[in-house]
Amino acid sequence: MHYHIILTEKCNLQCRYCYEKSMQEFENGLEKRFKFDFSAPCDLDIDLEKLKKFLEKDSNPVLIFYGGEPLLQKNKIIEIMDYLKNLNLKYRMQTNGQLLNLLPKEYLNKITKILISLDGDKERTDSNRGKGTYDKIMQNISLMKKNGYNGELIARMTIAQDCPDIYEQVLNLINAGFDSIHWQLDIGFYKEDFNKEKITNFINKVNESTSKLIKYWIERMKEGKVLKLYPFLGIIESLLKKEKTLIRCGAGHSGYAITTNGKISACPIMNNIEDFVCGTIEDSPNKLKKILVNECDSCDVKDICGGRCMYWRKAKLWPKTGDKLVCRSIKHLISELQSALPEIKKLIDKKIISQKDFDYEKYFGPEIIP
Ligand code: SF4
Ligand code: SF4
Repeated sequence: MHYHIILTEKCNLQCRYCYEKSMQEFENGLEKRFKFDFSAPCDLDIDLEKLKKFLEKDSNPVLIFYGGEPLLQKNKIIEIMDYLKNLNLKYRMQTNGQLLNLLPKEYLNKITKILISLDGDKERTDSNRGKGTYDKIMQNISLMKKNGYNGELIARMTIAQDCPDIYEQVLNLINAGFDSIHWQLDIGFYKEDFNKEKITNFINKVNESTSKLIKYWIERMKEGKVLKLYPFLGIIESLLKKEKTLIRCGAGHSGYAITTNGKISACPIMNNIEDFVCGTIEDSPNKLKKILVNECDSCDVKDICGGRCMYWRKAKLWPKTGDKLVCRSIKHLISELQSALPEIKKLIDKKIISQKDFDYEKYFGPEIIP
């Protein structure tokens, strides 16, 4: 099972779509629909022996350092890795990349998949996340590589509502050296940011850009290279294997979040909502409550999509017209990939690429459905 462990709620950046929007929206009505509990401390404060006993009961545990910004708690990362060193444990991390230089290489090199938040080129990343952010990430990546890091670095982009150019910005990241990229659309997560005309335009442009990027992805396959563009990879893998999926981030069925006080939540961003608590680290992993996204049951692409995001589906912050627009982009993505499938199968048959190129580890961070 995959566990995001929330090391701190604090962050050292103030990004437009996270800090700025949360500062503008103090009341979204969720307090009337869900039961909140804000008693957990800001920084992780759990008994590591209990964490160890909990993880020992899992046959294939994966721990994902998460925040806020997890590297603000670098000493806690070191403490956890030292304490759990005898467990057969895989480590992942989701970070803004600003402090990667602070974790000693013997620890960093054991975190074999790291998602780094950046949104494309320097101009786009700095405008969303703050001046100097992009250069600092690139400096840190150079240092990591010099220090022998050979894990997977995944650029994790947020596609803001005023910047739908996924194709251009993904290409910028590929040119900057990333083979692994994931993106998520900043839509449906805040009550006040829905404007029908604006979102319709955004979705139209996102769909156009997605189609263009799928064409580029296939062109690169013809040269023998399957880029790990996670939203494409996840869906094509399922189509090739004819597999059905539950929500693709894993929330509530295969992935959970360990909160700063040791409760276990279905998803890291719902860690303060009692309705999504599935147990504690004193329980056994196989006894954790499962929560499913039944809001999507009547959708004709449910088995391929899985439901995008449990928070978005359950919180229902946007009107139905808004949610339908979100689903329009998902259905476009699925339909374009279904159309590309015969060509991909031909490339596999000709042995230019292999079906194995589409295998990936599920639930460690990329949510797949943007
Ligand atoms: S497309 Fe929309 S309604 Fe259909 S499964 Fe995905 S999120 Fe649910
Ligand atoms: S996609 Fe939604 S439900 Fe899944 S982990 Fe992210 S915020 Fe949570």
